[in-house]
Amino acid sequence: MAKESQNIFDKVVSLCKRRGFVFPSSEIYGGYTAIYDYGPYGVLLQNNVKNAWWNNYVKMRDDIVGLDSSIFMNPKVWHASGHIKGFSDPLVECKKCHSRNRADKMLEEIGVVADEKMDIEQINEIFFNNLDKIKCPNCGKKDFTKIKKFNLLVKSNLGNYTDEIGEEPSYLRGETCQGIYVNYKSVLDSTRVKIPFGIAQIGKAFRNEITARKFVFRTREFEQMEMQYFTRPEDEMKEYEKLKEERWNFFASLGFKKNNLRWKKHDNLVFYAKEAYDIEFKFPWGFDELEGVHARGNYDLSQHSKYSGVDLSYNDIELNKKYIPHVIESSVGVGRIIFALLVDAYNEEGEGKEKRIVLKIDKKLAPIKIAVFPLLSNKPELLEKSKEVYTSLKPNFFCEYDGSGNIGKRYRRQDEIGTPYCITVDFDTLKDNTVTVRERDTMNQERIDINKLEEYLSSNLKK
Ligand code: ATP
Repeated sequence: MAKESQNIFDKVVSLCKRRGFVFPSSEIYGGYTAIYDYGPYGVLLQNNVKNAWWNNYVKMRDDIVGLDSSIFMNPKVWHASGHIKGFSDPLVECKKCHSRNRADKMLEEIGVVADEKMDIEQINEIFFNNLDKIKCPNCGKKDFTKIKKFNLLVKSNLGNYTDEIGEEPSYLRGETCQGIYVNYKSVLDSTRVKIPFGIAQIGKAFRNEITARKFVFRTREFEQMEMQYFTRPEDEMKEYEKLKEERWNFFASLGFKKNNLRWKKHDNLVFYAKEAYDIEFKFPWGFDELEGVHARGNYDLSQHSKYSGVDLSYNDIELNKKYIPHVIESSVGVGRIIFALLVDAYNEEGEGKEKRIVLKIDKKLAPIKIAVFPLLSNKPELLEKSKEVYTSLKPNFFCEYDGSGNIGKRYRRQDEIGTPYCITVDFDTLKDNTVTVRERDTMNQERIDINKLEEYLSSNLKK
């Protein structure tokens, strides 16, 4: 990473820790590689992102329904999906420092493609032919083991599983969409959906990721938001074009700067895929995948029909025809969106004493919408009035009360967590029932009558 980019990366990670967005997991025990916890503001931000996604699909669309499937599934699911055989990354180990890395990502950094369609011998050949340009990202040496396939599925000992007698273990799901495919028939049979329709789900997924150096961008436990849309075979690509447009608009609606987002087409598709694009965000190390938007043909449902023996074809009464629906999907990690949003919104303004860090995050996503302060913390009449204002706003907005430290510090603290409005109760309030409302981005201040405060805030938070 270039120095300036490393700077932004470090600054955002530090803000996350300092201000209670994201903490390393079990930190008092030294942490746990590639696992993170969301703190008080992180969980609020996460909920707002998840709500925006859920509302966009499940609430606003008549043709999309929600689902919450389990993390554990019959292990046959993972045979059918191809995860047991093929859900692996090429692992290479440095013989000097023993750090483990993904060979495909190391090749990507020098502009060489090694994708999932290649077998491990081909990747080995390409890797060692390019050794003059490759070095260990940890110690800089060039002495590597042979590359081998490393399966990413996380095994468990759920149930009566014992390794000794060669029983099939159960797995923690490696992606949430398999839960959608295996419930496709139940949804169809129990609701009034008709092709084309979609199923949306938010839930945890687990992967034994080899490298994990990019904060919440790549973690071993993470949350996915996936929507699988089932179409007539002949409509797949038409629907796919629509979905691509909708996904772009969704990210724009989260307030991302347009030049921090771009489309990337997959050049080498897996054999069943029709087309695949990623929406990439400009992370501190460069553009990288935020969300996948893929046209998957009828592979998924065909596989589950074959392995389960249950006919998953759709009886299309209008066409008087039976077929296995084709699937288009959008798939994104919550942690990746959170990290991207924080990088996108992070700003440093002013100089010296006037310097402030401000998260210019979209108001609808801000964890706290309004902070209420008494001008001075040692005046009982101001404390009483400010508490009254705070209590009246609390049922309708996520609010925070802060009566400690000086007013400048309180503003800085709220700026850093992205609070759009700060309200100060002062001596004039006691005379004329008005308060000062300060806006985060412009720092403009307005006097607003307490009786009109709720209306003022509601309409401004919607803008
Ligand atoms: P990558 O190439 O970065 O490993 P992928 O192509 O394997 O990602 P998918 O399997 O398509 O990813 O997963 C869909 C989405 O889930 C990704 O676009 C990403 O937003 C999210 N995701 C995948 N793996 C992780 C992870 N380990 N941590 C956080 N989010 C993840």
